[in-house]
Amino acid sequence: MGTRPEAIKLAPVYLALRARGAGARIYDTGQHPDLLPSALAAFAIPDTAVQRSPQRGVSAPLKMLPDMQRMLRAHAPGGVIVQGDTASAFAGALAGVLSGLPVHHVEAGLRSGDWLSPFPEEFIRAGIGRLSAQHFAPTPLAGRNLAAEGIAADRIHIAGNTIVDALRLILPGRNQRKRTRPSQSAGGKLVVLTVHRRESEGAGTRAILGAAAELARRRDVHVIYPAHPRTTTDELAALGSGHGIEVVPPIPYADFVQLLARADLAITDSGGVQEEAAILGTPLICCRNVTERPEALAGTHARLVGTDPEAILAAAEQFLDDGQRPAFSAAFGDGHAADRIAAILTA
Ligand code: UDP
Repeated sequence: MGTRPEAIKLAPVYLALRARGAGARIYDTGQHPDLLPSALAAFAIPDTAVQRSPQRGVSAPLKMLPDMQRMLRAHAPGGVIVQGDTASAFAGALAGVLSGLPVHHVEAGLRSGDWLSPFPEEFIRAGIGRLSAQHFAPTPLAGRNLAAEGIAADRIHIAGNTIVDALRLILPGRNQRKRTRPSQSAGGKLVVLTVHRRESEGAGTRAILGAAAELARRRDVHVIYPAHPRTTTDELAALGSGHGIEVVPPIPYADFVQLLARADLAITDSGGVQEEAAILGTPLICCRNVTERPEALAGTHARLVGTDPEAILAAAEQFLDDGQRPAFSAAFGDGHAADRIAAILTA
């Protein structure tokens, strides 16, 4: 793992493997040295980085390879588990295969269908699919995507998404939570905003932040925006005076998901936040043109709007004004995905 979302989605798998007595170890590539350790800490897992090789950019996976191969030789594991679609995941899968080890992919089978995208995620997801022995699909749709690419049925496991497990570990008793609506009756409507994708960099981020700034001009709206460390000052300038927007450093995971559960609206380009908003029943605006997570956008209070400020604003105003909250989505599983994965891998 190398990034915050990998830490969050693999922490439950690590804990489930350990609970079954497997000697799982975490290898942190150092891709997000500022975000990953605190994400692991939310699960009381120390960042026992076996080794770090901080590398960024499009050639990152290739630069990470030698260190990973050395680590695999030194520790001689029985297999390699990777998650999602990051440079670290791709490097891990490649290193595993080149070392003659079976590779297992958690959150396998997501496809946006955007093969011509200049951004590497779709290529990485599909590439890891070619390299993996076991494919842990988070949803039936993801399983069907894998089957359509010729992966044998006995290697596809519809395990559920481990993000539900993560939320279950961090927010126990969530379903018993009494829903208050609106969440901040005294202080107005609460909007959580995150923007971090490479495809949004520059113009896209400025457009999203500009729309949020416009929305925050409403006296009844308060926007909390944990800015990703990669956000540039040029992008942040789109917030203008910043009236009504609280720009904060990345929020620790446990606090972030509590905020998201309380929020009246999430505006995001993040994959994980899309899923969490759907699971927690928070209205969602996804600022992308395509998504590999259509399940998160299934309800009436979730919409894919791209980065056009007017479209973002129109959807935000509609959701905030009607004040409805969608039901908790069960599309991502029952919160026992990690144990299913651990059971198969330790069998
Ligand atoms: N997150 C967090 N603190 C924040 C913002 C996000 O803990 O201030 C969590 C969020 O709950 C989600 C994950 O980080 O699980 C999403 O990470 P990111 O948006 O970087 O990546 P993506 O999910 O798009 O791969």
